Order: sequence, then C-alpha cells, then structure tokens
Amino acid sequence: RGTSAPDYLSGLNPEQRAAVETTEGPVLVLAGAGTGKTRVLTTRIAHILATGRAYPSQILAVTFTNKAAREMKTRIGMLVGGQVEGMPWLGTFHSIGVKILRRHAELVGLKPNFTILDTDDQIRLIKQLIQAENLDDKRWPARTFATMLDGWKNKGLAPKDIPEGDARAFAGKGRHLYAAYQARLMTLNACDFGDLLMHPIALLKANPDVLAEYHRRFRYILVDEYQDTNVAQYMWLRLLAQQPKSGRDETARPPVLRQAQDEGTMSRPSAAAGASSQIAERSSTELPHPELVEGRGSAASTINICCVGDDDQSIYGWRGAEVDNILRFDKDFPGATVIRLERNYRSTGHILGAASHLIAHNEDRLGKTLFTDRADPEDPKVEVNAGWDSEEEARAIGEAIEDLQRRENHDLNDMAILVRASFQMRSFEDRFVTMGLNYRVIGGPRFYERMEIRDALAYFRCVCQPADDLAFERIVNTPKRGLGDATVRLLHDYARERQIPIIAAAGEMVETEELKPKPRNTLRGVVADFRRWSELLPTMKHTELAEQILDESGYTEMWQNDRSAEAPGRLENLKELIRSMEEYESLPSFLEHVALVMDAEQNADTDAVSIMTLHSAKGLEFQTVFLPGWEEGLFPHQRALDEGGRSGLEEERRLAYVGITRAKRRAKIWFVSNRRIHGLWQSTIPSRFLDELPEAHVEVMEANTSYGGYGASGFGGYGASRWDGGNAFKESSYKTPGWKRAQAAQAGFAETPPRRGGDGWSGGRTREITYDAEPGS
Ligand code: ATP
Ligand code: MG
Repeated sequence: RGTSAPDYLSGLNPEQRAAVETTEGPVLVLAGAGTGKTRVLTTRIAHILATGRAYPSQILAVTFTNKAAREMKTRIGMLVGGQVEGMPWLGTFHSIGVKILRRHAELVGLKPNFTILDTDDQIRLIKQLIQAENLDDKRWPARTFATMLDGWKNKGLAPKDIPEGDARAFAGKGRHLYAAYQARLMTLNACDFGDLLMHPIALLKANPDVLAEYHRRFRYILVDEYQDTNVAQYMWLRLLAQQPKSGRDETARPPVLRQAQDEGTMSRPSAAAGASSQIAERSSTELPHPELVEGRGSAASTINICCVGDDDQSIYGWRGAEVDNILRFDKDFPGATVIRLERNYRSTGHILGAASHLIAHNEDRLGKTLFTDRADPEDPKVEVNAGWDSEEEARAIGEAIEDLQRRENHDLNDMAILVRASFQMRSFEDRFVTMGLNYRVIGGPRFYERMEIRDALAYFRCVCQPADDLAFERIVNTPKRGLGDATVRLLHDYARERQIPIIAAAGEMVETEELKPKPRNTLRGVVADFRRWSELLPTMKHTELAEQILDESGYTEMWQNDRSAEAPGRLENLKELIRSMEEYESLPSFLEHVALVMDAEQNADTDAVSIMTLHSAKGLEFQTVFLPGWEEGLFPHQRALDEGGRSGLEEERRLAYVGITRAKRRAKIWFVSNRRIHGLWQSTIPSRFLDELPEAHVEVMEANTSYGGYGASGFGGYGASRWDGGNAFKESSYKTPGWKRAQAAQAGFAETPPRRGGDGWSGGRTREITYDAEPGS
C-alpha cells in the first residue's frame, strides 16, 4: 500500500489510530461516550482485512444488538468494499453462540436442528415441572423460577454450581428443578436463550480439539460495549481468547500476513498509546479464572483481542452485567495495551458539559476527561422543560418536532425520544398517530401490541362485541382456569354446528351435559362474568368498568402474583392502558381508536422519529434527543432505588448520562407536575438529576401554558416556577433538603386533571416498527 496511510486511517486522531493499528496483543479502549470507540472497532476490522492480516471468516466481532451488527457490516463495507459479505462471525453473543452450538450440537446431546424456546414455551415447561413435583404453582410461580434460571445462566452456573441458598429455593427443590428442566430440554431437542452461551462454554471446555479449531480460526476478537458483558459472556470470551502457544497453526495464517511477518514489515504498536504493549508470558495460574485454561499448557501466546467500553455506561447490572470485567482487563490479559480516547466527536460543548457534570456525581467510577472542539456560540444549551402531565408532554414534544421539521428541515430519522419505562411510550404513540407524525418503536413491540395489553383488549372486545371469537379464545383460559384445549374444541364444534359465536355456545353448553362438571362450572362463571360486564357497559364509567373487568377476571392478580422481572412493567402498562382510555367517551370508541393505531402502516424506509427506552439507545446517536419523564420515582426509577440502594441510584445516573450523550446537537429534557403512578394521580417532584446539571450548559424554558387552558398557576409550587431561572440551580433542591421535604409533604394525590378535547383523527399516517432483538439476543 505504499508509504502513505490508507484513507480509512487518515481521519483518526493519534490514539484512535493506535487502537486500530495495534492489531497484535490484547487492547482495551476505555473511553467516554462519543469518543469513537465503535468507529475504532469498525476501522480496526477494515484495517485487518485491508492489510491481509486475516480473512473475514477469521474475525470474531461481538456487538450488543443485531442492529449494531448490521450497521457495523455496512460501515466496514464502505471502508473496504465488498468483503463483509463473508463476515460470518460478526453478531451478538447470542447469534454467535447459536452458530457455534449448531455446528457441534451433538457434543452437548442436542441435534443440530434444535429449537430455541421463547418465553411462553419456557414458562409452560417450568410450570409442568413444578406441578410434577407436587408444588402449588401459585405459591411457586413458574416466572419466578424463570428469573432465577436467567440469573444462574448469566453467571454461567450449571445445576451443580448454584449457591446453596438457591438450591434450597422452591421448597428445597431449586437445584433439582434446574436439573430436571435441563433434562427436559434435552428430550425436546431444545434450548433456551441462556443455553446459547452455556452450551458452547461447556462444549468448548470439554472438547479441547474443538476449542483448538476455534483458536486457529479466530485470529482477531473484537468486543463492543464490553462494560455490559456478564459472567457467562466473559467466560465464553476468555475461552476463545486464550490461545495456547502450541496450538498455533502457522499454515492457517493468510499469505499476506505470513509475508508481512516474515519480512518484518509488521511494526509493533507505537508508543502513542502510552502503555506498554509487551506481551507477558505468565503462568495460567496467575489468571483470575485458571480453570478456563486448565490443561492447555502454562504459557498463553499472543491474544489478539480488542475490547472497547465505558464504565460510565454500564447499565445492565440488573441483568447480571459485571462492570468489573472491564476494570480487570489488564489483569486478565497481561501486557494489555490500554488506550484512552478523550476527544468527543459527537456532541456540542453544552451537551458534553451537562453530561460530564452529571456523571461526576457518581462515586463508583474511574473518572475520565472528555473534551470537544465543537463550541459554536450558536449551539443550543441543554433544555429543561416543564409540563402539566404526560399528555401535555407528548403534545409539546410533538409540536417541537414539527417545529424543527419546519424551521430546520430536520430529518425525523435524526430525532429520538428516549424513555425510562416502556409505559411512557403510549402517550407519544397516541399523540403521533393523531398528528400523523411517523414514528418507529425500537427494541420491543409497540404499546398496544404487548402481550398484557392484547390480553386486556381481548377482554374488552368480548364485552363490547360478544361475537369476537378470536378475542374470547385468547382469554378463555388466561389466567389459567383449567379450561384446556379439549374444552375449547368442544365449544368450537358446538358453535360451528349452530353457527353462533363461541361465547354464546358457551352459554348454551353449560346448560347441557356435554362438558365435564369441573370445566362446566368454571365456564358458567366466565359466561356470567361477561354477561354482567356487558350489562354494565351502558351505565358504568368505562375506565372503572375496564378496571373492574381486569380485577374480577383475575387478570390483574395473575401479574401481581408473578415474580418475574417483567411483571411490574406489565402492571404499569395495564394501568397506563386504563389511563389512556380517559380521553375517550366509551369502551367501544376506545377500541376503535386502538384498532386504527394497530392497523397503521409499517414501512422500514420512511423518515420517522424513533421511540425507545434509554437502555436500547446505547451506542446510538441522533441530532436531537428528547428526554421525557425526569421525575423522582420514574427517573431515577423507584424500583432501582428500593432494590439497589446507592448502586441502584448510580446505575440510574449512568442511564441519564447515556441518554444525554446520545445527542449531537440538541437535548431537550422534560418533567411534568402530574403523573399517574401506581394508578393514582400524583404530584411529582422534579428528578434530582436536574439539580445535578450545571447551570452554564442548561437553559430552563419558559413554561408553555398555551395548552388546555392551564394558566401559570396550574404549575403551583412545582414545575416551571421552580425552574424559571438560574437560581433554581444555585439553590437546588438537592442541596437544600428542607425544600425537598416541603415538596414531598405537598406531593399528595392531586386531582385528576380535567379531560381535554380530542383532536380530530388525521389520516395519511405511515408508521413502522423495528422488531429488534433485545440487547444481547
Ligand atoms: P458510545 O460510547 O456512545 O458508544 P463511541 O465511543 O462508540 O460512543 P462512536 O459512535 O464510534 O463513539 O463515534 C461517535 C461519533 O463521532 C460518530 O458519529 C463517529 O463517526 C464520530 N467520530 C469518531 N471518531 C471520529 C474522528 N476521528 N473524526 C471524525 N468523526 C469521528
Ligand atoms: Mg459505541
């Protein structure tokens, strides 16, 4: 390639360039948001390919989401052209895990065509096992066990390895149930998500020849978002990265590499990194996980692994991620080159200043410097806006989006709304549909498509429209009532013969002898319930009726008894569903609205605003970012505070840091004075994180009181008046607990804000959804 640097290197700063060109030996890039970590990884792959150091199939590159993997492929393609078609080992831990497992399934007792269970299958299976042990599955819920399983598998623990306390869980049957579950999966030729890592770890450990094959194959390993790897992912990486010296197969080197090495033209990394890049040869027993290198000689050879991450962006602690993995990298990989990047290329000085100041409130961090050259006096400060309630928040953000479109020709694709909790999405989805504004929900189903919402809607549909067979079938046995498939089949046959709806068939059949006594009695109860609810429909307030239906049917209770990690979120969503009905006259008019929303067009190529959780925004960037819901209890989230204490709070603060640093130019934060939490309207207290933003980089916006007839007085002692000048920051609530206590004392239950007039339906909307896998899957 001659002496001048190839194009893809010329735009990099010296530290980035060192990270790209230090191809041999372990490298850790530890750096703040927007400093080009992901860009370094991408360029590094391009460099490895362009210089012939490896074939595409010899590079293992791990990203956090499938979306990130796709983006990386595209970018590498742009840098080197074409070759990425053959990058089969670029993906998430799970997608790569499944690939390894398919190749060697028989080594763990599976067939290569094994199936991967979804959550529903998994729960059903666990429930059967619990019942088989004669345990009451109400007292010992399957979902609780599923959450425990997930925890064990995140830690890489097989049944024999789980802690004694866990082994005694579930009436002393914890370990036994785990083992029985794994055995059952084997007979079903199936595995769950956790197994996609656990099985490869087991098979690589047990089969040195297979492991050696991968050691020969993967000449370069790269990992993005290393701060969020869990123990199992870490073990898996360590296995693949520990290359025993004797295991190297010289002939496996691509010709260009051999030539470069032989000619001595492949230079060692420069000293620009500021750290030694000597590869120490140490005994494996000095490594923190000696068992991983057991029996494979005592000296580790060059490990070409490059991990990039940011301890300040570790936000998956609640799912078993261990930020320690990044902190002990240089112990795990002796002689590692540690590179720090300090220049941020993404954001303006204001955004960076605000985010850095906020995260400095965490005690548990390495601490690092970040700077940017972008300091245009025209740059907007980080905005803090106050609103009355979530509807107004959605309305105002919708207007701000249209305004940016109008005034600056701002692409919708370059805007995002980042929420703390998924229930917050509902008001934005509803509002945008009404406005005819394109949006996409990233990282999960749209609000009305979530399982619990569909279930609840099915109940309401049956009440409003008794001929809705599909809805009835969905919930006839949800929650579980012992009305199995056989009963449903009988109902079907009866209904078809007489050409009547199934619920009518049920009404008739319970008067006959065709069903066994037990299902007959149960069904009689169900039919009576629906009859009663239908009779209440014309007279009762629809939101109350809806709540009553979910209560009396046992549906709410089902989730209350559920100990799984998702259950609280599902209950929140159900409450949000009832809340959203308030804007409609009746249950039927609400259902009509939902049908229209659900039917909206889905088009992947349109210009659209993204709505997603802060968690799934990791690694992404947008010109403008909206950050709604900065209120105590929501953000920081109460659950994180209750369960995590100080470290819970710090993880929330990292999430706020991730949120702000997604913005290139504009970050607009919102908080409202009234939010319905746990089903009750509450006056809310602005998030403590607002007090932690530096005055110099923040502008507190005038409260916009033009909506809905709330005068400035509507904000009472909260919201805008608290935030109407720089003083709010000097005399911040955080530093003056007296103020906070006074606020808390006042923060009783507020009156339900009056309903607002509806906005007419505007057509012509196009919307889409990206069903991206959850991070890591
Ligand atoms: P995060 O921590 O949020 O994942 P990151 O460190 O991975 O951030 P990147 O996404 O790689 O950062 O880079 C942030 C932005 O800066 C991107 O738009 C990238 O293209 C740009 N960028 C990175 N390095 C340079 C550079 N040397 N010159 C110009 N732009 C750069
Ligand atoms: Mg990144």
